[in-house]
Amino acid sequence: MQLKLQFLGAAQNVTGSRHLLEANGTRILVDCGLYQERQFKARNWDPFDVPPDSIDVVLLTHAHLDHCGLLPKLVKEGFKGRIYCTSATAEIAQIILLDSAKIQEEDAEYKRKRHKREGRKGRYPEVPLYTTQDAEACLPLFSPVRYKQPVQIDTGIEATFYDAGHVLGSSIIKVKVSNGGQDRTVLFSGDIGRPDRPIVCDPASLEQADYVLIESTYGDRVHQGPKDTKKMIAEVINSTRKAGGNIIVPSFALERSQELLYYINELLLENAIPHLMVFLDSPMAARITKVFQRHSEFFDEEMTEFVRHNKSPFSFPGLKMTATSDESKAINHIRGTIIVIAGSGMCTGGRVKHHLVNNITNPQNTIMFVGYQAVGTLGRRIVNGEKEVRILGREYPVKAKIVRVNGFSAHADRDELFKWLSGLKNPPRKLFVVHGESKSANHFGDYVRQKTGWQVAVPAYRDEVVLD
Ligand SMILES: [Zn+2]
Repeated sequence: MQLKLQFLGAAQNVTGSRHLLEANGTRILVDCGLYQERQFKARNWDPFDVPPDSIDVVLLTHAHLDHCGLLPKLVKEGFKGRIYCTSATAEIAQIILLDSAKIQEEDAEYKRKRHKREGRKGRYPEVPLYTTQDAEACLPLFSPVRYKQPVQIDTGIEATFYDAGHVLGSSIIKVKVSNGGQDRTVLFSGDIGRPDRPIVCDPASLEQADYVLIESTYGDRVHQGPKDTKKMIAEVINSTRKAGGNIIVPSFALERSQELLYYINELLLENAIPHLMVFLDSPMAARITKVFQRHSEFFDEEMTEFVRHNKSPFSFPGLKMTATSDESKAINHIRGTIIVIAGSGMCTGGRVKHHLVNNITNPQNTIMFVGYQAVGTLGRRIVNGEKEVRILGREYPVKAKIVRVNGFSAHADRDELFKWLSGLKNPPRKLFVVHGESKSANHFGDYVRQKTGWQVAVPAYRDEVVLD
């Protein structure tokens, strides 16, 4: 049996997930993500390490851009095989890839103009990484699979998807390779969710694997209890309502926005907050919410029960999904307290920017952050307490109340990752810690080694290992 693993992304860093498994001559690429960390973005332009037309199949864990965002480039450069993933992942990935292509096109155009004006060349080519057409070309290759039902990839090679509990449709993937009466299993954790989160199920527990790749985004920390998340949201809504202001929530389109709607609906049903107009002012979040509505089979038991009694949490009195930018701008003329959920999550683009312009200078309003704010983003400057921020080319004093609500993390922490590994009945032949910054990945690797005595490696970018 010939089994080789190459770490082509998310190795001692978080984004750009890409792992190549070669099994008896068949090339299986697990995820094909976009690099989003500033210092690694140039890698998006590098040629693929193996010719895309030599890859037989892609297995996709979930629809986040750092896992699927380079698929259009892979297809543009010759990949013709199937892209296996769950139906929800396929539908959400389509929305996300088309949006990403549009952003790539707009960015390239903007840079081309700016560089021309300034008479200089930028770091990256002034062409889009891929176009809308390229993104459309990869859509027919998506092949939906069901959880726990093995898919035959080639003779003696099958892949089985399990619920990762991270975002709707997310998967842990187990690849089983058999040859001459021998078999080996390689388990790809994808991104692992947390137990007891709303909407999605808890991560599936796996009992057997010869080799395991585990993510380590939060491998060096333990989350604070998320129990009070809903209570905090209620407090923000009630106090802002009392002050007569608005609540602006910069939010990510996938999962975070839907969780917010779920919490708001629950609070309404419990009479913990008054009836207010709630705007989901992000066309992408609205489209993704429709995928959630179509795929209730992915909901956890609580959510299924909730839907049975209260219908969908994504349609309640007062909730409006605004499609056009005119509708979005009209929100500014509404009097009385309203809640606006808008992208982008870190305020780097999208409609949230004009809502900030209209609301950030008024002390009656609240800007409620529900997600991680990366260094260098407008969101990070606001949560850091800067007194004045630049939005759409103008300076604005920050007078609104700034609140951070924790507990929304979609990634397991150190203890939750370890607990997930503890589901294995026997030690794996080797554990590979990936998808975490070097510090986090190494911390988690050491932690597992100390606790279990297992063979643990923290592979570097482009490392290759032969699995025996
Ligand atoms: Zn993810």
